[in-house]
Amino acid sequence: SFETMSEIRKTRLNPALTTYYGSPLAFHQGHMQWLFDINGRRYLDMFGGICTVSVGHSHPKITEALHKQIQKLTHVSNVYFHPKIHEYAVRLTEKFPGNLKVVYFVNSGSEANDLAVLMARSYTKNFDIVTLKNAYHGMTYQTMGLTSNTGYKYKVPQAPGIHNIMNPDVYRGLWGGTHCRDSPIQTSRSCSCSVENCEAKDKYLEQLRDIFKYNVRPGGLAAFFAESIQGVGGTVQFPKGYIKGAYKLVKEHGGLFISDEVQTGFGRTGEHFWGFEMHGIEPDIVTMAKSMGNGFPLAAVVTRPEIAQALASSMHFNTFGGNPLACTVGITVLDIIEEEQLQKNCLEIGTYFLKEMEKLKAKHSIIGDVRGKGLMLGVELVEDDKNASPLDSKRFMKMWEKTRDMGLIIGKGGLFGNVIRIKPPIV
Ligand code: PMP
Repeated sequence: SFETMSEIRKTRLNPALTTYYGSPLAFHQGHMQWLFDINGRRYLDMFGGICTVSVGHSHPKITEALHKQIQKLTHVSNVYFHPKIHEYAVRLTEKFPGNLKVVYFVNSGSEANDLAVLMARSYTKNFDIVTLKNAYHGMTYQTMGLTSNTGYKYKVPQAPGIHNIMNPDVYRGLWGGTHCRDSPIQTSRSCSCSVENCEAKDKYLEQLRDIFKYNVRPGGLAAFFAESIQGVGGTVQFPKGYIKGAYKLVKEHGGLFISDEVQTGFGRTGEHFWGFEMHGIEPDIVTMAKSMGNGFPLAAVVTRPEIAQALASSMHFNTFGGNPLACTVGITVLDIIEEEQLQKNCLEIGTYFLKEMEKLKAKHSIIGDVRGKGLMLGVELVEDDKNASPLDSKRFMKMWEKTRDMGLIIGKGGLFGNVIRIKPPIV
């Protein structure tokens, strides 16, 4: 019963887990874009288990493929050959441009980013890692350091050599204020910058150059991390050209560019299969998880052969990575995205959705910004759109509970917790 689950949650489960809503929802079944709670009530899932259930809950093709594989072979570890890991390695790396052809399979986005740090440091023999304020890269001890959203910081010293720097947020500016030219906090919004045209872009890049020059040890840059669109941070987009400029600066300073595609990968942004493609760059290392396994614990790091080799001098191993069941799911997810043309669906539905939300923004001053690409969308709620001060949390929660009453599951995030995140299964 709900009461028993509440009691177990209180006494037997990680007390640092939080749940959405005043009275938590308890689900027991899902079908494609629908979720059903323990009372049998149906909800439209617009959050996909945090941007993860990409091809739909309990997709019949995944159920069938898993059923077949589970009867054959569940696990042997990586010290033997097994067909699925080889098949998936080829299928996955075919999706990448250039020399991004070597994959390390792991089990979560955090583990992938942790490994990316090790790879970058081993290859460059440098130590310093730079990440953007408001980024989310994971919850292992080291990736917690990469995650610079302050809500996820603990009162213990963070892992060494990591610099969390300002964020080129088109709507809120470098320091999470209310305007891209303001620093650090202003109360009025007086520009109309957009992703396509942001007058502050060059200034942001100058500041990044200064950080690479003066804040990291000279010649000491190992890597720069960025999400193609920040997810947990509130569907935050960067000015067009920023990522390309950052990539160039990273190269000038001897580092590697790591693209965190944990949320933006696998076609979700519509136009491209990988988010980094929208920025016109080819990263040195790409990390992925979430949509990759449609909810199955599956993640990976993809890189060029020479970077992958940097770890080969010692044995790099994990027990579950590339497990036959996980790889079966991964292959089937790729099949479904292709067969059902889900990337195209993201583009069509997402573009339509964004356009309709722009109409709502023009009508309602509570909507400060609507943004995103494909089916990775965000709506930033404010007290007044002339003054981008975040919507009061009580008002936000009232709206939030109401969507639940309407049978709609949406996510929330952002620096001030005032952004609605819309990331449904891409079906
Ligand atoms: N990177 C990004 C962009 C994420 O959104 C997340 C999870 N929210 C992670 C990394 C960490 O993934 P996981 O929770 O699987 O460790």
